[in-house]
Amino acid sequence: MDDPIPTTLKGLVDAETSCRRCPLYRDATQVVPGEGPRRARMLLVGEQPGDQEDRQGRPFVGPAGRVLDRALAEAGIDRQTVFVTNAVKHFKFEQRGKRRLHKKPNAHEIERCHWWLDIEKAIVRPPVIVALGATAARSLMGRPVTLAKLRGAPVAAPDGSRVVVTIHPSYLLRIRAAEDKAREYAGFLADLKLGARLLADAA
Ligand code: SF4
Repeated sequence: MDDPIPTTLKGLVDAETSCRRCPLYRDATQVVPGEGPRRARMLLVGEQPGDQEDRQGRPFVGPAGRVLDRALAEAGIDRQTVFVTNAVKHFKFEQRGKRRLHKKPNAHEIERCHWWLDIEKAIVRPPVIVALGATAARSLMGRPVTLAKLRGAPVAAPDGSRVVVTIHPSYLLRIRAAEDKAREYAGFLADLKLGARLLADAA
Protein backbone atom coordinates (compact mmCIF):
# COMPACT_ATOMS: atom_id res chain seq x y z
CA MET A 1 0.00 0.00 0.00
CA ASP A 2 1.26 3.55 -0.74
CA ASP A 3 2.43 5.62 2.22
CA PRO A 4 -0.09 8.26 3.36
CA ILE A 5 0.36 11.70 1.80
CA PRO A 6 1.89 14.10 4.37
CA THR A 7 -0.34 16.92 5.55
CA THR A 8 2.23 18.80 7.66
CA LEU A 9 5.64 20.25 6.83
CA LYS A 10 7.28 18.00 9.43
CA GLY A 11 5.61 14.94 7.91
CA LEU A 12 6.68 16.10 4.47
CA VAL A 13 10.34 16.41 5.50
CA ASP A 14 10.23 12.93 7.03
CA ALA A 15 8.73 11.47 3.85
CA GLU A 16 11.18 13.27 1.56
CA THR A 17 14.10 12.03 3.65
CA SER A 18 13.33 8.44 2.71
CA CYS A 19 12.34 9.17 -0.92
CA ARG A 20 13.57 6.72 -3.55
CA ARG A 21 11.35 7.91 -6.40
CA CYS A 22 14.37 8.58 -8.66
CA PRO A 23 18.09 7.67 -8.48
CA LEU A 24 19.33 11.09 -7.26
CA TYR A 25 19.19 10.18 -3.57
CA ARG A 26 22.10 7.74 -4.08
CA ASP A 27 24.95 10.24 -4.53
CA ALA A 28 23.63 13.29 -2.69
CA THR A 29 24.58 13.95 0.93
CA GLN A 30 20.98 14.42 2.01
CA VAL A 31 17.59 15.59 0.80
CA VAL A 32 17.08 19.37 0.84
CA PRO A 33 13.46 20.05 1.79
CA GLY A 34 11.66 23.33 1.25
CA GLU A 35 11.87 25.84 4.08
CA GLY A 36 9.61 28.59 5.35
CA PRO A 37 6.39 29.28 7.23
CA ARG A 38 3.47 26.90 6.72
CA ARG A 39 1.22 29.76 5.70
CA ALA A 40 3.79 31.58 3.57
CA ARG A 41 2.07 33.77 1.00
CA MET A 42 4.72 33.31 -1.64
CA LEU A 43 6.35 30.08 -2.81
CA LEU A 44 9.72 30.41 -4.53
CA VAL A 45 10.76 27.37 -6.55
CA GLY A 46 14.34 26.88 -7.76
CA GLU A 47 15.89 24.07 -9.77
CA GLN A 48 17.78 21.80 -7.37
CA PRO A 49 20.13 22.16 -4.38
CA GLY A 50 23.69 23.23 -5.14
CA ASP A 51 26.90 22.08 -3.48
CA GLN A 52 26.44 24.20 -0.33
CA GLU A 53 22.76 23.36 -0.04
CA ASP A 54 23.56 19.65 -0.30
CA ARG A 55 26.11 19.90 2.49
CA GLN A 56 23.92 22.03 4.77
CA GLY A 57 20.56 20.43 3.95
CA ARG A 58 18.91 23.82 3.39
CA PRO A 59 17.76 25.55 0.19
CA PHE A 60 19.38 28.70 -1.23
CA VAL A 61 22.20 29.05 1.30
CA GLY A 62 25.01 29.21 -1.31
CA PRO A 63 26.10 31.96 -3.73
CA ALA A 64 22.78 31.91 -5.67
CA GLY A 65 20.95 32.23 -2.36
CA ARG A 66 22.88 35.41 -1.57
CA VAL A 67 21.84 36.91 -4.90
CA LEU A 68 18.26 35.90 -4.16
CA ASP A 69 18.39 37.45 -0.67
CA ARG A 70 19.60 40.75 -2.07
CA ALA A 71 16.95 40.83 -4.81
CA LEU A 72 14.14 39.87 -2.43
CA ALA A 73 15.16 42.67 -0.07
CA GLU A 74 15.27 45.18 -2.94
CA ALA A 75 11.84 43.99 -4.12
CA GLY A 76 10.45 44.57 -0.61
CA ILE A 77 9.90 40.87 0.09
CA ASP A 78 10.99 39.51 3.48
CA ARG A 79 12.65 36.12 2.91
CA GLN A 80 11.47 34.99 6.33
CA THR A 81 7.87 35.22 5.09
CA VAL A 82 8.29 33.16 1.91
CA PHE A 83 8.57 29.41 1.41
CA VAL A 84 11.69 28.51 -0.55
CA THR A 85 12.07 25.16 -2.27
CA ASN A 86 13.36 23.39 -5.39
CA ALA A 87 11.74 21.44 -8.21
CA VAL A 88 14.19 18.60 -7.49
CA LYS A 89 15.15 17.93 -3.87
CA HIS A 90 18.48 16.09 -4.24
CA PHE A 91 21.73 17.52 -5.64
CA LYS A 92 22.66 16.14 -9.07
CA PHE A 93 26.33 16.53 -9.91
CA GLU A 94 29.32 15.16 -11.74
CA GLN A 95 32.49 14.51 -9.75
CA ARG A 96 35.59 16.12 -11.34
CA GLY A 97 38.53 15.54 -9.07
CA LYS A 98 37.58 17.16 -5.77
CA ARG A 99 34.91 19.34 -7.37
CA ARG A 100 31.26 18.48 -7.73
CA LEU A 101 29.88 20.10 -10.85
CA HIS A 102 26.17 20.84 -11.11
CA LYS A 103 24.26 18.70 -13.62
CA LYS A 104 20.83 19.67 -14.85
CA PRO A 105 18.05 17.32 -13.73
CA ASN A 106 16.40 15.44 -16.59
CA ALA A 107 12.70 15.23 -17.45
CA HIS A 108 12.23 11.98 -15.53
CA GLU A 109 13.78 13.38 -12.34
CA ILE A 110 11.74 16.58 -12.58
CA GLU A 111 8.55 14.62 -13.14
CA ARG A 112 9.23 12.19 -10.26
CA CYS A 113 10.06 15.00 -7.81
CA HIS A 114 7.02 17.02 -8.86
CA TRP A 115 5.13 14.77 -6.42
CA TRP A 116 6.75 16.62 -3.49
CA LEU A 117 6.27 20.06 -4.98
CA ASP A 118 2.55 19.36 -5.33
CA ILE A 119 2.37 18.36 -1.66
CA GLU A 120 4.25 21.50 -0.62
CA LYS A 121 1.74 23.58 -2.57
CA ALA A 122 -1.17 21.73 -0.96
CA ILE A 123 0.19 22.32 2.57
CA VAL A 124 1.33 25.94 2.18
CA ARG A 125 -1.39 27.08 -0.29
CA PRO A 126 0.46 30.25 -1.38
CA PRO A 127 -1.49 32.81 -3.42
CA VAL A 128 1.64 33.60 -5.45
CA ILE A 129 4.28 31.22 -6.82
CA VAL A 130 7.57 32.32 -8.40
CA ALA A 131 9.40 29.93 -10.72
CA LEU A 132 13.14 30.60 -10.65
CA GLY A 133 14.43 29.27 -13.96
CA ALA A 134 13.36 26.83 -16.67
CA THR A 135 13.39 23.68 -14.54
CA ALA A 136 11.06 25.19 -11.95
CA ALA A 137 8.80 26.59 -14.67
CA ARG A 138 8.71 23.22 -16.42
CA SER A 139 7.75 21.45 -13.21
CA LEU A 140 5.04 23.96 -12.32
CA MET A 141 3.60 24.20 -15.84
CA GLY A 142 3.86 20.45 -16.49
CA ARG A 143 5.64 20.91 -19.81
CA PRO A 144 8.89 22.29 -21.24
CA VAL A 145 8.69 26.08 -21.51
CA THR A 146 10.62 29.01 -22.98
CA LEU A 147 11.30 31.43 -20.14
CA ALA A 148 11.27 34.58 -22.26
CA LYS A 149 7.73 33.84 -23.48
CA LEU A 150 6.36 33.54 -19.94
CA ARG A 151 7.99 36.53 -18.27
CA GLY A 152 6.41 39.91 -17.58
CA ALA A 153 2.92 38.79 -16.53
CA PRO A 154 1.57 36.03 -14.28
CA VAL A 155 0.73 32.75 -16.03
CA ALA A 156 -1.81 30.14 -14.97
CA ALA A 157 -0.48 26.68 -14.09
CA PRO A 158 -2.62 23.64 -15.00
CA ASP A 159 -3.96 23.53 -11.42
CA GLY A 160 -5.05 27.20 -11.64
CA SER A 161 -2.31 28.65 -9.44
CA ARG A 162 -0.72 31.96 -10.48
CA VAL A 163 2.94 31.69 -11.40
CA VAL A 164 5.48 34.45 -12.00
CA VAL A 165 8.30 33.11 -14.16
CA THR A 166 11.82 34.49 -13.96
CA ILE A 167 15.46 33.43 -14.27
CA HIS A 168 17.36 31.40 -11.70
CA PRO A 169 19.72 33.63 -9.66
CA SER A 170 22.66 31.30 -10.47
CA TYR A 171 22.36 32.51 -14.07
CA LEU A 172 23.38 36.00 -12.89
CA LEU A 173 26.53 34.55 -11.31
CA ARG A 174 27.64 33.15 -14.65
CA ILE A 175 27.41 36.43 -16.59
CA ARG A 176 30.83 38.04 -16.97
CA ALA A 177 30.10 41.42 -18.61
CA ALA A 178 29.02 44.00 -16.02
CA GLU A 179 26.53 45.66 -18.35
CA ASP A 180 24.81 42.36 -19.20
CA LYS A 181 24.78 41.37 -15.56
CA ALA A 182 23.17 44.66 -14.53
CA ARG A 183 20.51 44.36 -17.24
CA GLU A 184 19.62 40.77 -16.31
CA TYR A 185 19.56 41.64 -12.61
CA ALA A 186 17.16 44.51 -13.31
CA GLY A 187 14.87 42.08 -15.16
CA PHE A 188 15.05 39.62 -12.28
CA LEU A 189 14.17 42.39 -9.83
CA ALA A 190 11.25 43.50 -12.00
CA ASP A 191 9.87 39.94 -11.97
CA LEU A 192 10.14 39.74 -8.18
CA LYS A 193 8.42 43.12 -7.86
CA LEU A 194 5.61 41.76 -10.03
CA GLY A 195 5.29 38.93 -7.51
CA ALA A 196 5.21 41.48 -4.67
CA ARG A 197 2.43 43.44 -6.41
CA LEU A 198 0.37 40.26 -6.88
CA LEU A 199 0.80 39.56 -3.19
CA ALA A 200 -0.41 43.02 -2.29
CA ASP A 201 -3.45 42.55 -4.60
CA ALA A 202 -4.23 39.20 -2.98
CA ALA A 203 -4.11 40.67 0.56
S1 SF4 B 1 15.25 14.01 -6.34
FE1 SF4 B 1 13.14 14.04 -5.59
S2 SF4 B 1 12.17 12.24 -6.48
FE2 SF4 B 1 14.39 11.97 -6.68
S3 SF4 B 1 14.95 10.79 -4.82
FE3 SF4 B 1 15.23 12.98 -4.37
S4 SF4 B 1 13.32 13.63 -3.39
FE4 SF4 B 1 12.94 11.68 -4.44
